[in-house]
Amino acid sequence: MADPLSGVYKARQSPRVVVSRTPSGARPGRANSALSQRFERIATGRTASRQGPRYWRPEEIGSGVAPPCVPWRRYAGGNWTGVRLMRIVMIGAGYVGLVSGACLADFGHEVVCVEVDATKVDSLREGRVPIYEPGLSELVLANQAAGRLTFTTSLKAAGRGANAIFIAVGTPSLAEIGSADMRFVHDAAREIAGVIEEFTVVVVKSTVPIGAGDEVERIIAERAPRDRFAVVSNPEFLREGAAIEDFKRPDRVVIGVEDDRAREVMREIYQPIESNGGPIVYTSRRSSEMIKYAANVFLAMKVTFINEIADLCERLGADVLDVSHGIGLDDRIGRRFLNPGPGFGGSCFPKDTLALTKLAADAKAPIRLVETLVDVNDKRKTAMAAKIVAACGGSVAGKRIAVLGLTYKPKTDDMRDAPSLVIVPELQAAGARVVAYDPEGLRTAKPLLPGVEFADNAYACLKGADAAVVVTEWDEFRALDLARVKASLAAPIMVDLRNIYPIKAMKALGFRYVCVGRGFGGEG
Ligand code: NAD
Repeated sequence: MADPLSGVYKARQSPRVVVSRTPSGARPGRANSALSQRFERIATGRTASRQGPRYWRPEEIGSGVAPPCVPWRRYAGGNWTGVRLMRIVMIGAGYVGLVSGACLADFGHEVVCVEVDATKVDSLREGRVPIYEPGLSELVLANQAAGRLTFTTSLKAAGRGANAIFIAVGTPSLAEIGSADMRFVHDAAREIAGVIEEFTVVVVKSTVPIGAGDEVERIIAERAPRDRFAVVSNPEFLREGAAIEDFKRPDRVVIGVEDDRAREVMREIYQPIESNGGPIVYTSRRSSEMIKYAANVFLAMKVTFINEIADLCERLGADVLDVSHGIGLDDRIGRRFLNPGPGFGGSCFPKDTLALTKLAADAKAPIRLVETLVDVNDKRKTAMAAKIVAACGGSVAGKRIAVLGLTYKPKTDDMRDAPSLVIVPELQAAGARVVAYDPEGLRTAKPLLPGVEFADNAYACLKGADAAVVVTEWDEFRALDLARVKASLAAPIMVDLRNIYPIKAMKALGFRYVCVGRGFGGEG
């Protein structure tokens, strides 16, 4: 039987391994790093049989003997254990690929991100991270400087000799149909088929329909022998805005794997998380694919449920925040994702709910609950525009409306399916002049919102407006001087779609304050 760890990087028990530091931006590939050269030697099998896992001793860490950063280590049974290094390729350097690549490099692995967008690669090589995600720039720069994280447009150069190639490309909704567009995943699979030379684990990190792993396997097998690769499902659960923390300290890592060699490689890759007590769930590939959709759709359902309860609270004079608190204390329900608002958006929930309804319909097992939630959520965004119009006395024609927050949630610059993309055009269609401000999203929002005037800060946005609307709950909006806000506005109307201000204080200041689900009409 083949060595289950063949192709896995295993350093000698002898501690004389010096890891070179590849200068930032250097061309990735084996020739650039002593670590890679070593990997190459081991991968040829000449020394593999004599080697066991490499454990870094405390004095080696930070001494130049261990990799420059071995962030995870523990003392167990009288020994220090550390990271067994792997060579990883990440296809796609978007939100998921870049965060995953940087975090895996920070665990000590050698990571090459392959990105088709050459501008993105140039910018990353120069140390500029093209997306806003707290802590990401620092993490990318540190690991680039340490020689563990490089960027390229060529899978050919990067893919040879990798232990694992992750696919982290987009799976957007197919227009009109709603199912996941698998074009990018399939293209990546075709490229992988052309580069694997020895046993490689192909890890599907993108969110894909159930059974997609089988298709990836079929595509690769058109060019590569079946015993040379294994396809694994490893969906990602990170939240934008808290992505690094979520990746490094996840609630769980889900691995859908049906091949023992691949399972070992995956175990090594995630060993730092396991060592830190993070649960790793091993399951079949299809179950793993289903876990991702079921998790996202369940959370979307929670959000939609509380949004509908909020509407009912407005009719019946109850306060949805007390209701969320009261039901959330029940362990079976939980407090998270029970904050009412303008409807969910973002890069995942809208497309994943749609994709699951399509999958279910195709499988002749329609999920009516989810079909309904998609419809309810779509209509909610339009209903929020109507709520703003009503708060302005029934018309916004000719009025200046200040919109605070455009991104689909705080701490990201992501505008994908943001509620603002429906609310703002609805207000414009009703005759409003919209001025908007977002702390991080202006660059991404500007091309998507024609006819909007953009302000440089919140107070400039509010100046002379006939009403203010909070669409995204950035912390800096919570910290605004409310008296100054009132003085800046031409009329003291605040529509708060995220419930960030205290009703009493707003009323005491003389605002007409309309929020979501808090008393009759959302007016306390
Ligand atoms: P993204 O659009 O931000 O990034 C995808 C990247 O892949 C782009 O930069 C694109 O240029 C690149 N790409 C496409 N084809 C390529 C190829 N053949 N070779 C190299 N690069 C290629 O997408 P994302 O938000 O990172 O999402 C990726 C996947 O992860 C999706 O399936 C998504 O559903 C899932 N996901 C996303 C999140 C999130 O919060 N964004 C969270 C969990 C899971």
